[in-house]
Amino acid sequence: FDALASTDPEIADVVLGELERLRGGLQLIASENLTSPAVLAALGSTLSNKYAEGYPGHRYYGGCAQVDVAEELGVARAKALFGAEHANLQPHSGASANLAAYAAFCEPGDTVLAMDLKQGGHLTHGSLVNFSGRWFQAVSYGVRADTELIDYDQVRELAIAHEPRMIIAGATAYPRLIDFAAFRSIADEVGAILMVDAAHFIGLVAGRVIPSPVPFADVVTLTTHKVLRGPRGGMILCRAEHARAIDKAVFPFGQGGPLMHAVAAKAVALREAAAPEFGGYATQVVANAAALAKGLEAEGMRAVSGGTDTHLALLDVRGLEITGAEAERRCEAAGITLNKNAIPFDPAPPATASGIRIGSPSVTTQGMTEPDMAEIARLVGRAVRAEPGTATGDAEHAAVRDAVGRLTAAHPAYPR
Ligand code: PLP
Repeated sequence: FDALASTDPEIADVVLGELERLRGGLQLIASENLTSPAVLAALGSTLSNKYAEGYPGHRYYGGCAQVDVAEELGVARAKALFGAEHANLQPHSGASANLAAYAAFCEPGDTVLAMDLKQGGHLTHGSLVNFSGRWFQAVSYGVRADTELIDYDQVRELAIAHEPRMIIAGATAYPRLIDFAAFRSIADEVGAILMVDAAHFIGLVAGRVIPSPVPFADVVTLTTHKVLRGPRGGMILCRAEHARAIDKAVFPFGQGGPLMHAVAAKAVALREAAAPEFGGYATQVVANAAALAKGLEAEGMRAVSGGTDTHLALLDVRGLEITGAEAERRCEAAGITLNKNAIPFDPAPPATASGIRIGSPSVTTQGMTEPDMAEIARLVGRAVRAEPGTATGDAEHAAVRDAVGRLTAAHPAYPR
């Protein structure tokens, strides 16, 4: 860090400022986590210098002996941890992993069936502003209005009607378990490839607290930076029969040289995730998300689908007569970071939204448990009820900020 501070004090200030932000506030963004110093060390290493187009043993550049070891270790760890026949650690991000999965199995113009963005799907699941909606015929399924759970009857009806080349299970804002066996049976019925986008929940699979999609899917894509607590990046797991197609779809189709510092950091994170303590972490992540959802319901919010089985919950905030965007803003003023989110059948536009999404991965990494979640829920409730710009509202936000400071002091992120 001294080298950075002397060469570029402005960026050094940003790095320190961000560290202070993490230390001083509560991070409830469901897709974020706090990586270990070991992962950060691999990320900040000279492996960043190395060009290594290709795969271990078959590179287009010399000098790859060391990075080959890192990638081979990472691939072996991923296969062992997830019981997968093949793993590719090179995707730069979750979106890149998804692009590769489409490229491995589909041609432009093919039909894909995936979850509606407005009901919890990801941009790469067929949104018109993304390659997936521009280059493919995307058909969307959603959740049932009564239960807010995936409508498997609708998935099957749409699959039979549209005969998609690929069906995608997985979401960005769905708090419940996904029935992979049901998706497998629908895919088999119509002869479709089954892709599971496990970006959000794969860390819970690694910790053995929720069922794995690996035995059911032809291909599983994931991000390494959410519950899994690795560096920002993507990964693909697949059956051996698809290994060549997947590898070619990542490189050379979608990417050039892999980011070897990130590949090495993924290997570190996989080693951490295979340790017994990670199972305890994942168990606590789920318990904490449930406690947060319960606490927020007591504050007058409605948990979409009635709760959560995972690391995240979606809360409908209309009962408090505010929007999701306003709730996000008020929490931010009180030192609590979370995001507004559309709820199923949301009457409000996405930029306003009627809900918030909360996640427990970061606060659990900080060692917080259910009683802390109850306290956080009370603080979120106070923050969203306080109107900024009024004397009482501003005082309330300052009081919540102080309480947040006491919680984070007791459970520091990146202890000094
Ligand atoms: N897939 C899902 C389900 C996601 O939630 C996300 C990111 O939030 C992605 C893919 C994309 O990951 P990235 O932001 O790394 O491209």
